[in-house]
Amino acid sequence: MGNGGTWRRLHGHAWLWLVLLALVSPFVSANELEVARLPDGPADAAAVVRGDLDRAFVPNRNGEAVLFQIADRPVWWRIRSRDAIPAGDEPQLVLASPYLSQVEAWVPGRAEPTRHTLYGDAVDPRYSARALVIALPAGIPVGEAVYLRVFMPGGAPVQVAVEPRDAVHATDLEYVAWRAMILSTIVVLAVLALAYWAGVGERSFVFLALTLGCAALFIAGTGGEARALPGLGELFASGPRPTRAIGCFGILFSNLFMRLYLDLRRNAPRHDRVLMALTALAGALGVACAISDARVLPTLGNLLLVCSALVVFSAAMLCIARGDRAARFLLASWLPLIVSSVLRALQMLGFLQDWDHLDHLLAASFALAGLLLTVGLSDKMLQLRRDRDEASQHASFDPITAALNRRAIDQRLAEEVKAAHAHGRPLSVAFVDIDRFKAINDTCGHSVGDQCLRYISLRVRNTLRARDLLARFGGDELLVVMPDTTLDDACTVAERMRVAVNCRPLALDDRQLDCTLSIGIAELQPGENAERLLARADAALYASKSAGRDRVSGHAAVSPLEARP
Ligand code: GH3
Ligand code: MG
Repeated sequence: MGNGGTWRRLHGHAWLWLVLLALVSPFVSANELEVARLPDGPADAAAVVRGDLDRAFVPNRNGEAVLFQIADRPVWWRIRSRDAIPAGDEPQLVLASPYLSQVEAWVPGRAEPTRHTLYGDAVDPRYSARALVIALPAGIPVGEAVYLRVFMPGGAPVQVAVEPRDAVHATDLEYVAWRAMILSTIVVLAVLALAYWAGVGERSFVFLALTLGCAALFIAGTGGEARALPGLGELFASGPRPTRAIGCFGILFSNLFMRLYLDLRRNAPRHDRVLMALTALAGALGVACAISDARVLPTLGNLLLVCSALVVFSAAMLCIARGDRAARFLLASWLPLIVSSVLRALQMLGFLQDWDHLDHLLAASFALAGLLLTVGLSDKMLQLRRDRDEASQHASFDPITAALNRRAIDQRLAEEVKAAHAHGRPLSVAFVDIDRFKAINDTCGHSVGDQCLRYISLRVRNTLRARDLLARFGGDELLVVMPDTTLDDACTVAERMRVAVNCRPLALDDRQLDCTLSIGIAELQPGENAERLLARADAALYASKSAGRDRVSGHAAVSPLEARP
């Protein structure tokens, strides 16, 4: 955003880019250029270019080859070289990261000035949006100078260098590759976040998508890539307002995302209140930026960004101290962004002028943050899913026997009955009741009773196929549902269950306990519902009990069938 804007001109290539730049080694290193500024107001172009005002030009304080101005009008700059720059290698004056700068250039060997901008009709399509590239047909002979009249509505440092034409093209190619990677990473992550939102309905994904969308627009707007997109090009060319407003809304969405991601309302209510106040301010500032060019707005925006980052940072630390896993992801993703934002803010205040790739570092931090946050969110989703599975496990299973509980078996039985009717396949159920269980409880105590229940259901389970269902129907009563099983087969299975329990005593702690089962079986009849089926199995169980226990009874639909041990 405008002057003093940390996030105003994000160009995206970090230290990797620095290494690449070093490899293509600029023709003339920046510090061999003397960059000077004419401090007073507008001057007559002819007089400046003739050199009449040369003595009034003031070289940059620390000798940096940087154009940096905060002014509502064009400013004159003069560029000279300490050693002559020959014309042989087709030297080009390269003004990096120009954003909205409008440059008129008078160069040695050419009488007429040329115009250069990133947006609009003075775009030079031979070069990428990395820089404004101005040909020096006669090089820069000693004693001669390039004069630039620069209007900088966005106002951020523009690095000045002279490079041979081949080097400009080589660096441009690397730059385009790097920027395409950064921008497409951010856009893909934004789309991914939207897809997640559509899939799982988690609101924080929408805010992440909006944050990343704002970041992509902001980076493409300040970097100049947006000029290739119809509509967007004109919007960003209109002045610094759109990028400033997008920056503010980016802060707003990012804060809303962080708040949900860290669940600040519950985990850190005080941080939450402060962050929400900052978020409201970001919204108001976004609207103000959209309608006003006031110079104080971008500065306020930077302040808001730094404050929000600090609040999120300390809230994340608090959450990490409490063992919150999601907060670690957030801190890992947020830290490079905070560091590069603060460094960039310092640069805007006039420090670190020769750190010429901070804006690229900032863009790369954005992509990294988006990546880590998406991974973090997926991790969080996975955790939620695990919790939900665990909860549904709790809701479906009986804690003592680990068999299905009453609620779950009612539902599963209804499904099995429906499927059996639909496919004309047999289905049998068995009620299994422990004989004289009350006595075990009374003599050995409840906990031995529980253990007994657990062991018996284990022995019963071991006689069943994988697709049979075992449930604790209530008290000491188990229900077995056997799909694809006729009454006769079910009686055989039930007999196995009975024998599995009474064949040898249960070894409980230091005592041996003899247990027996009474079992009642029924097979589903055409048109019968689950309730009626269970009633008949219950009747068969009653028959087993009445006949002396420790036995299996089948309830034939027409006449009862008794299968004695
Ligand atoms: P019967 O042969 O007629 O079935 O005799 P019984 O003693 O088993 O009689 P009944 O089925 O009516 O008694 C069930 C007993 O199961 C009553 C209760 O003390 C015991 N019980 C029910 N739920 C639990 C439980 O979760 N843990 C324990 N330890 N006992 C339970
Ligand atoms: Mg019983």
